[in-house]
Amino acid sequence: MTIRLFNTMSGQVEVLAPGNQSTDDGDAPALGMYACGPTVYDYGHIGNFRTFLHVDLLRRFLKQQGIAVRHVMNITDVDDKIIRNAVAAGVPISAYTPRYEKAFFEDMDALNCERPEFVPRATENIPEMTALIEQLAAKDLAYKVEDGSWYFRIAGFPEYGKLSKKDFAGIQDGARVQVDEYEKDAARDFALWKAAKATADPNEMQWQTPLGPGRPGWHIECSAMATKFLGQSFDLHAGGEDLMFPHHENEIAQSESASGKTFARHWMHVRFLLVEGRKMSKSEGNFFTLRDLLLRGYKASAIRFLLLSVPYRHQLNFTFDGLLESTSAVDRLRTFHQRLLEGQAAGKWPSGANPELQQQACNAAAAFTAALAEDLNTAEARAAIFDLVRLANAAADAGTLHADDVPAVLDTLTRFDQIFAVLEDRDEAITRAALKWAEQEGRLEEANADLRASLALSDAEIDAMVEERNQARRTRNFARGDAIRKELADKGVLIEDSKEGVRWKRTGTSRTGAHAPRP
Ligand code: AMP
Ligand code: ZN
Repeated sequence: MTIRLFNTMSGQVEVLAPGNQSTDDGDAPALGMYACGPTVYDYGHIGNFRTFLHVDLLRRFLKQQGIAVRHVMNITDVDDKIIRNAVAAGVPISAYTPRYEKAFFEDMDALNCERPEFVPRATENIPEMTALIEQLAAKDLAYKVEDGSWYFRIAGFPEYGKLSKKDFAGIQDGARVQVDEYEKDAARDFALWKAAKATADPNEMQWQTPLGPGRPGWHIECSAMATKFLGQSFDLHAGGEDLMFPHHENEIAQSESASGKTFARHWMHVRFLLVEGRKMSKSEGNFFTLRDLLLRGYKASAIRFLLLSVPYRHQLNFTFDGLLESTSAVDRLRTFHQRLLEGQAAGKWPSGANPELQQQACNAAAAFTAALAEDLNTAEARAAIFDLVRLANAAADAGTLHADDVPAVLDTLTRFDQIFAVLEDRDEAITRAALKWAEQEGRLEEANADLRASLALSDAEIDAMVEERNQARRTRNFARGDAIRKELADKGVLIEDSKEGVRWKRTGTSRTGAHAPRP
């Protein structure tokens, strides 16, 4: 199926297909995509992960559609914020960043994001950056100033502004950004290379290069690494909406004036996430890292599902109510999946077929794919699956779900999960890992008390206690049965008796959600 995606450059939804990317191993052309990665100076927040998750969703969808991807994500492990924090901590940046890089990948794993094919670190690609700056200097598009820093001459690139559609007609040649943090609205010649200051702290990293001692600017990093792994011209470049200007505009200016070719053909920008309707900020008290949410007892799968549920070009308003709804939505899907599998294993579904239901399963799969193929409409895609869950559950209740229908329904569910990746229950292990991290960091008091209590018991221990209670009840020892129920409740585990057997759930409350019935 043709995949269409909004292209910030053209302002239109356009076909996305692999262009000229050949792979090193000579396989079929892959779609070359570059997504700006994290700056590893702190733990990632849910806004960052909204962007990374939509890039993950795109790569998973491309692969499902038979398109190989060559996905590059840089790690920014040298920049002003990193230097500021490392100097404050009294350590070299090379000692400061590894813990945040490690934490970033742990978080990406917790959120079930696939690892890109290439994850280059800025500090390991300095020669590529200086070579690019030298190329620009040879064309008089890079110039050196008194302190030894190098700047890009925006006036030498008349197309500057074509991505963000800003008008820079009046730009003054030679006006420079003097501050370290990039201005959001003014175009100024920007730093390609930042000279080491005479007063530099020894923990600031500097490289001895043909350009002089110093370190790279942020924008040149991405130009150099994208070109190194994808060539001078490639298919897709992605990032959060804040990066459109100046970061991506500057990447284009540097890369295209050096190569004379179109840098990225397609530009994807993920809109920002708001929290409870407001911009997320530490001073507003509405700033959350993934770890903050895990310690409050929310499941990683529910967070993934929520962050993906609103299509990437719409603002997502993150709320705790929304997160609880997402928790129930994931539970509903898992319970349904389990119901199908357990019924199948137990030979519970009557033999024969229900052609109408099979057709509905096929339609849901087609609607799911069509929604994603049209600019990654995740809301419609998930709605198609929930429609099927409703219909199939109703059929199962009415005895009209037959054994021959189950594979078609499972197949649609599998297609869904290749992209959304929430069916496998890894939540408890992830939450435990977050608690362990909090303990090591001396931050355990940030964790929800119910959650800590409920995780004191392992799944196996709970299963054993539930079984002991079942045994007591079978022998009509109700007092013992009630005592076990109470003991579990005190430890944050709730028992529910249902027609289909006994279920239990941890009451880090509804936050950790229900466990599927035990066989
Ligand atoms: P950083 O680590 O700050 O360089 O950001 C990593 C990625 O997260 C970039 O693609 C940013 O555009 C993106 N990002 C930052 N804040 C948000 C937010 N509130 N919502 C969505 N994406 C964001
Ligand atoms: Zn970048």
